[in-house]
Amino acid sequence: MTVTVCITCDIDTELRDKNYLKKYLMLLDKKKVKATFFVNNEIIEKNPGQASLLKKTKHEIGAHGDTHTPFYGSYSELCKRLKKNKLTLEEFYKTKIMGFRAPMLKYSKELYEALRENGFRYSSNFHRRELISWVPFFGFTYELSFFSKIKPLLKSLADLVYVKKPKPYKIKGVLEIPVTTPCDWFLVDFVKTKRIYETWKDIFDDMAKKNGDFVFVVLTHPQYISNGHLVELSRFIDYVKMKNAELKTLNEITSSYS
Ligand SMILES: [Zn+2]
Repeated sequence: MTVTVCITCDIDTELRDKNYLKKYLMLLDKKKVKATFFVNNEIIEKNPGQASLLKKTKHEIGAHGDTHTPFYGSYSELCKRLKKNKLTLEEFYKTKIMGFRAPMLKYSKELYEALRENGFRYSSNFHRRELISWVPFFGFTYELSFFSKIKPLLKSLADLVYVKKPKPYKIKGVLEIPVTTPCDWFLVDFVKTKRIYETWKDIFDDMAKKNGDFVFVVLTHPQYISNGHLVELSRFIDYVKMKNAELKTLNEITSSYS
């Protein structure tokens, strides 16, 4: 069984505190993990100093939009935006950009063809939903004090409602590497940070039980993190290493699927 874990980070527009990105990078160094950072053009335009923090690292840089808005629109509009995003990043980071993640994971179906035409090898946009995360009248399920008690039910419902893709797959010649959710966005902003490790570990164990080979793509937002968040991420990295998972960048995964 081959289990791969990818740590991915979306750098949206502005960092709340750049020291946390520094700490985040230090943690990855300490754990000897190479991650994939999806960068939006707006941070380069508005705050090049913050965007430069990723320059001296060995991490992969991916594209996260020319603006932080969904990738809806016609094929030609999407091509125009992708081209602008890719060129800006390649010029700034002096590296080839191979992957794309749409802001808010929102995009139209023409995206894959536009990605292929603009020289992208992979996309990491499909949302693997492992839990029912929102219910009418109650709101976000992670916020509920009885979350742990109803978690098995939330997982079973998610199995019924959502399509699960444990492995990457090709669309129009582009490899789609699905994101495993919930991402830290919901866990950081809506509940106690300590649920991040517990939730990811739980999903990882479930995927190991249900699938043979699988890829777990962690989505984080280093601009919103706290010390508590880093502790949780560190624990998750230790746990998957203990389970013999390989930690790779998304571009490395793409190479192994070509
Ligand atoms: Zn984003």
